[in-house]
Amino acid sequence: MAASLTVQTLLERHANGIHQHQPIPTFAEIGAAGKLPHIAIVTCADTRCNPEDFLHLNTGEVIIFRNPGGSTMSALPGLLAIDSLVTLEDIIVVKHTDCGATIFRDDAIRDTIKQRVPNRAVEVDAMTFGNITTSLEDSVRENLRFLKGSDLVRKELADRCVGFVFDIKNGALTPVE
Ligand SMILES: [Zn+2]
Repeated sequence: MAASLTVQTLLERHANGIHQHQPIPTFAEIGAAGKLPHIAIVTCADTRCNPEDFLHLNTGEVIIFRNPGGSTMSALPGLLAIDSLVTLEDIIVVKHTDCGATIFRDDAIRDTIKQRVPNRAVEVDAMTFGNITTSLEDSVRENLRFLKGSDLVRKELADRCVGFVFDIKNGALTPVE
């Protein structure tokens, strides 16, 4: 069996590639060029679901929020923060096939944590972990409804939230009506 990846290996890769680094513009430089990002993507933390790859993104173009399952509920505070800074115009929600969030259950995660720290049970019971208990398409719809139904999200932005399912095998990005 191949040795598992280590932090040391990652740091070696970094050191080996540092000469290829291109300077990244500061906020001031991006603002002066009128290129502040205005599109946010909410997607899964899964390492196989990379908008940078399937949307061929360049550095600085799009703001990406990732969490298990690609939950807009979990991403909401970050979306609100970024919207207050750069004024978002679009939010794209992307779930993906073979998502681990369709397998794990929030209840089981809560139980595991509560066994370890029983004195924090009330706090843990209030946590959600993004499990998907419906079809991927219905989960996208539920996540879009959450954004569109939240009075915390600006109406103009909520109206422009769209959702997709990414197929990890054929690479297709299918819109969810
Ligand atoms: Zn996933």
